[in-house]
Amino acid sequence: MGQAKFNFKEVTEQEEGLDFSKKVPCPHCKKPIPYNATMCLYCGETVTTPTKPSPFMWVIVGVVIIGILFMLFKG
Ligand SMILES: [Zn+2]
Repeated sequence: MGQAKFNFKEVTEQEEGLDFSKKVPCPHCKKPIPYNATMCLYCGETVTTPTKPSPFMWVIVGVVIIGILFMLFKG
């Protein structure tokens, strides 16, 4: 009792990771949700936001990194 090692505030921030300072309307229920939310907090529908980096971008990043490593090891 009194040994409150569990920080609820910290856990909530880590688990959510949502930016409530910027909100966009949910495409399903039109309620304001954090712009970086992957799921609507109200209707539970999956939300895709344009701010989310696309897989294609990571392919390019990977190719560039591999190219740099290749040049480094080559000469
Ligand atoms: Zn919604």
